[in-house]
This record gives sequence, C-alpha cells and structure tokens, in this order.
Amino acid sequence: MYTSRWQGSARRERGGDGVVEMLKRRLGRTNFEASVIGFGGGPFIRPAWEQGVKAVRRAIELGVNLIDTARQYGESEAMLGEAIKGARDRLFISTKSHFRTKEEVARSIDESLRQLQVDKIDLIHLHSVDREEDLKQCLAKGGPLEAMREARAGGKVDYIGISGHRSEVLVPALKTGEFDAVIVTYNLINDDAKQELLPLAQEMDVGVLAMKPLDGGFLAVPREAAQLRVADRATSTVEAALRFALSNPAVATVLVGMVSVAEVEEDVPMGFVPQKMPLEDRTALQARARGTLYTFCQGCGYCLLQCPEDIDIPRIFKLQVLLEQYRMKEYARVTYREVFRQQVEKCTGCESCMERCPSQLDIPELLRKADLILS
Ligand code: SF4
Ligand code: SF4
Repeated sequence: MYTSRWQGSARRERGGDGVVEMLKRRLGRTNFEASVIGFGGGPFIRPAWEQGVKAVRRAIELGVNLIDTARQYGESEAMLGEAIKGARDRLFISTKSHFRTKEEVARSIDESLRQLQVDKIDLIHLHSVDREEDLKQCLAKGGPLEAMREARAGGKVDYIGISGHRSEVLVPALKTGEFDAVIVTYNLINDDAKQELLPLAQEMDVGVLAMKPLDGGFLAVPREAAQLRVADRATSTVEAALRFALSNPAVATVLVGMVSVAEVEEDVPMGFVPQKMPLEDRTALQARARGTLYTFCQGCGYCLLQCPEDIDIPRIFKLQVLLEQYRMKEYARVTYREVFRQQVEKCTGCESCMERCPSQLDIPELLRKADLILS
C-alpha cells in the first residue's frame, strides 16, 4: 500500500512522546489561532454516520481546532454536532448559508445552531457566491448579509465571512469591508486567488480558509489507486498538495475533507511540520499537475443535492479518472457496471444538477460520455 512519509508522524504523536504538535496560524481579524489543517465537512452530505463521528473525534485529538460545514451539506451539520460533543470549547465552528433572502438566512442560522447543538456559531459565511448577481443579491438592503449582521448583534454568531470559487467576485466582496474571513478554492491547479484576492485579504486582515486543496481528492493518489500500487501515475501526493496550499502565507488553514480515521491519520500530520515549499518545487509540482491531471469535476457534491434521481455524479466522474489517469480499467468498469450504470440510466437530462455546479459543467452530457467510457 502507498504510504506517505508523514504517516510516521502520526504514529509518533499516538505514542505520546509530545514531540509533534499541530501548527497554527492567526485567522485574520477573528484573532483565532487556527490549526493549519481544518476539518472540511463537505464530504458528509451523505455521511456514514459512525465513521464520520470517529473521524472528526480523531482529528480533534490530533489537534484540528477548526471545523467547517454548511447548511447545504445534507447531514453534515447534524453529524458534526454529535461528533463535537464535549469538545466545543476547543473548536472554532464555521458554517454557511446558501439562501438568498433575509428571512431564509435567518431561519437557516437558527437551524444550523440546532443541528450543530451549539449556542453560537463562530463564523457564518454567505455560501457559494460565484456570480456578480449572487453578490448583489447577498449585499442588497434587506438581504442575506443583513440577516447575518442581525444574528451577530443577537449573539448567535461572532464573525461573518463569504465563500466562493471565483476571485473576480470575491475581490469586490472583500472591498466592502463587511467580511472577516473568506473561503476560496486554492490548489495546484487553481491558484488564481494568489494574484489579487490573497494579497487583498492580507492587507485587510481577512482570514483565509483555502478549500479544495486536493481538488476534491483528485490531486493526490486516490485511495482506490493507492491500494493497487499505481502511485507513480499520481498528479501529486497529499503531502505535496497540502504543502503547496500552505506555502502561501495568506492562507491560515486548509479545509481537508476526511471521511475516515485512516484518512485523518494520513492527512492531519501534514500540519505538524513547517509547510514552506521552495518556489522552484512549487513551480515543478504545478507543471506536473497540469501535465498529468485528468479531471474536470471538483468533487464538491453540490450536484448531489439537486439530482431528483439520486445519481452519485462525482463518484462516477472519479471512476472515469481512475480509468483514464490511473489505467484502472477493470476496477473502474466493474464498479461502474455493478453500482452506477443503473443510476446513469435514470438520468432524465433535467439539468437541475447544473444549477449549482461551481465548474459550470454540462453534467448530463459528461455523464453520457462517462457511460460510454466506463461501459
Ligand atoms: S440531468 Fe440527470 S444527473 Fe442532472 S439532475 Fe437531472 S437526472 Fe440528475
Ligand atoms: S459535477 Fe460540479 S457540482 Fe458536481 S461534484 Fe463535480 S464540480 Fe461539484
């Protein structure tokens, strides 16, 4: 099995010799000293509940002190609420509201508090503000931002942030001065934020949470591939991808989606060691990533919430990556035939899934192509 050299660090920590400890960075004007590895709750849209609770608790044991989720992530908030019982005081909780009216946002904040089983949310974000119209709607008088300000005045939240995938929308948002933190995509393949957004955030003392450091898991050796010893075809390792994101000093924490104790024990120890990667290494890594990576989907799972036929779209696209990049023909085709083909056959082409896809993919068309390749 492919192993990261940092797994050794996890073992040392478990041994209790006190040598290793999670590094922390100040999250902008919130002044919170955040663990450089944050727990991303996105993959828990459809949680394996027991496994999720164990993963979160192990991450907290290893020093993760920032947890991010969203009202839109299905059962994620509820699972996290269960997992963080007894540890709330040590944690900084960030969640998001994707609604676009003041009343809906106010209701969703109350629901987040209930699901997370907490009295206060540390940081609430306007979620997925990816278009200029979204931003306009969010900032409008009597709109979503106003609901967040009122929640802050009422003691339900401490800080307000914004999340999105496009710097050209987030830069004007930060310039309003309304936001204490920003969640933005930042990884080997998509590093647009470094041009203007990250320097601006630093200048304005806005905390930066980098999302999708592994591009939905596609940037590093997929676990399925790791077991089959095809790591040499990987775009990068988890270690390299996380170090890349953390090499930018503007980034306070990277949000990593980890769905099992094994993943936590592999990924969290990256936060135990200094992260700075020399510029020439970063450039070489990016060149390799851009040359080898075969993917188009960020694995965010937003489409799952929209699909009336319950088609596991990101998983199907991942199988295509396993086949095309990792040459795992048999595994990909057998898994597709046995589990996913019946799902794809139910696709009606309604395009609901495309409404919230941050990559603006033509999902039904890509599913048809995936079916041809995987069949
Ligand atoms: S187009 Fe297909 S995959 Fe997309 S939401 Fe409709 S049924 Fe689901
Ligand atoms: S298809 Fe789009 S919405 Fe669905 S997981 Fe991929 S990037 Fe996210």
